[in-house]
Amino acid sequence: MNIISNFSPNFSKKSRKKNNINFVILHYTGMQSEIESLNRLKNPKSKVSCHYLINRKGNIIQLVEDQKIAWHAGKSKWKKFNNLNLNSVGIELVNKGHQFGYESFTKKQLKSLILLCKRLKKKYKIKPENFLGHSDIAPLRKIDPGEKFPWRKLEKYQIGKWYKKNHKILKYDKNNMRILFFKNLKKIGYRYFNIFKRTKVDHKIVKSFQRHFLPKSITGEIDKKTFEISQILAN
Ligand SMILES: [Zn+2]
Repeated sequence: MNIISNFSPNFSKKSRKKNNINFVILHYTGMQSEIESLNRLKNPKSKVSCHYLINRKGNIIQLVEDQKIAWHAGKSKWKKFNNLNLNSVGIELVNKGHQFGYESFTKKQLKSLILLCKRLKKKYKIKPENFLGHSDIAPLRKIDPGEKFPWRKLEKYQIGKWYKKNHKILKYDKNNMRILFFKNLKKIGYRYFNIFKRTKVDHKIVKSFQRHFLPKSITGEIDKKTFEISQILAN
């Protein structure tokens, strides 16, 4: 695997230990071009960066060393972790994103991503379920890498968690579906909601979950299918 270095100044001064790297967070660049994205990720004024960028041809560019904290996730939460920048490696995939014409990720891009993730997984002993999307850890602000990201296919490589369709669903009380759903999400790792209180942002959380696990049906509604997938993943 060939990795080109093209370093960014946007990282925290303090280094971290190898065992503090527990997550890989996946993003899309969401800009018109690769050049524009690289410029932004390297501009000291933007205060954003990532560890790796993978372009449409599948070339991997390293912008920040793994042991440095790159600024890719922003305010974020997952399980007991706050500010995931501290504990993660951030990978940007070049893609125009929802704002400029969301594209499928290329085969070459995904091939390189799998190789890179496998390497990181081995080096830092990262658990399969700790490969997450930016939208999972910041569901109120972010929608990347988006519904075209092939989480289901990546399960074969133990990158990300997925669910088995033939899993038996225990009986549940439909009247309690909202509460049970959010309890499941809490168990899976999602944050930014209140299990017992409806809020205006509930639908954003539901959409974020669907974008990852039910990408063909991002409705923001807790329907039977959405609920059952949460049930399988949480148990
Ligand atoms: Zn992102």
